Amino acid sequence: MAKKFACKAIGMDCGFEAKAENEEALLVQVKEHARTAHNMQQIDEATAAKISGSITEE
Ligand SMILES: [Zn+2]
Repeated sequence: MAKKFACKAIGMDCGFEAKAENEEALLVQVKEHARTAHNMQQIDEATAAKISGSITEE
């Protein structure tokens, strides 16, 4: 089952949405987006927890 994540789900004012076959592949996209779009070189634990909690299945 595909996994989905939207920046909006964690309260970001951002239209980014990612979709991937599994959580690992999804997180790669999300981290890349966070780095390039939100200037987050590192995702801290609190944000990582929010992200995991906001991943939905499609
Ligand atoms: Zn974003």
